[in-house]
Amino acid sequence: NEQIVLAERPEGLPGDDVFRYEDVETREPGRDEMVIESVYISVDPYMRGRMNDAKSYAKPFELDKPIESHIVGRVTESNNDDFAEGDVVTGVLPWKKFNTVSEDAVNKVPSTDVPLHLYLSTLGMPGQTAYGGLLNIGKPQEGETVVVSAASGAVGSVVGQIAKIKGARVVGIAGGTEKVDYLTETLGLDAGVDYKKDDFAERLAEAVPDGIDVYFENVGGTVSDEVFNHLNTFARVPVCGAISSYNSKEDNGPRVQQKLIKSQALMQGFLVAQFKDDFKDASEQLAQWVQEGKVHSEVTIAEGFDRLPEAFRNLFTGDNFGKQVVKVSDS
Ligand code: NDP
Repeated sequence: NEQIVLAERPEGLPGDDVFRYEDVETREPGRDEMVIESVYISVDPYMRGRMNDAKSYAKPFELDKPIESHIVGRVTESNNDDFAEGDVVTGVLPWKKFNTVSEDAVNKVPSTDVPLHLYLSTLGMPGQTAYGGLLNIGKPQEGETVVVSAASGAVGSVVGQIAKIKGARVVGIAGGTEKVDYLTETLGLDAGVDYKKDDFAERLAEAVPDGIDVYFENVGGTVSDEVFNHLNTFARVPVCGAISSYNSKEDNGPRVQQKLIKSQALMQGFLVAQFKDDFKDASEQLAQWVQEGKVHSEVTIAEGFDRLPEAFRNLFTGDNFGKQVVKVSDS
């Protein structure tokens, strides 16, 4: 068995020294326990925060202990009557090829008829984040203008497509031509704007002639400074993430106060867990939209356990396209 532990706390973008590979024994399953082979391992932006030794909503990863994240795995051995060999499960588990766990640590997936990595994106935590944040805080109305940043990503792509389903005019912001084309051509958004181009400010202004009623905030920094210039009166801003600042010690987040006052806009931070009472309904609705072809998902799959550090860095360089996962087993 192999595991990856946090070897040191990173400064800036986590380099290879932050991750250490170790050979370990797989613990024999005790009464009611089972062994799970990792099939897909998720890398998520919030994990960067857990690498720091700072108090936050998720407790820091411990040095010399395995990093953990959402994993889709298959039961290879079970002493639990409710789980059989071959069952597909998800849970937040240590970065190991095999984990010995009790039933509290995992849930069976509702269906294996979809690509299993979807349980780490649209049908998993990022999908719940998009659904809960957009519908509970953003509350997009028909004909309103919704803007979403990191729009081609795991959360952003679902936000944009749900906003379309709700009848809004939707503008996505992403980096690079390939991703921006994907927003309009595949996701069906009304416009895409490339924040890496020099004319970002002008293109954004052109894309939102009626201003912005909902801004789903994923990135912070200078991208959002520009977006906030266009907030309409009583706009809503679900503040989901600020990825542009995760690798930096300085506070380069949005400077938005004056604009909030003028527009009397509502800006609300949220954590996906606050919508947990809706998770079941949200899962069913998302699965239905996926089945009907109303919600598409892009995925970038890195092959091999040793690609986890690189896959994690892709989130911050934008080298992922859609949900970044790592495939560690063919089973
Ligand atoms: P993505 O799949 O969107 O991957 C991250 C993307 O962020 C990259 O592909 C890149 O896209 C973009 N990005 C990276 N650096 C910058 C930058 N400096 N400026 C602008 N864009 C940048 O990740 P997720 O969908 O998993 O997460 C999106 C956001 O949602 C994150 O901020 C995350 O922390 C947040 N989140 C919050 C949750 C909550 O409960 N509040 C739960 C889950 C996620 P590009 O190439 O377009 O730049």
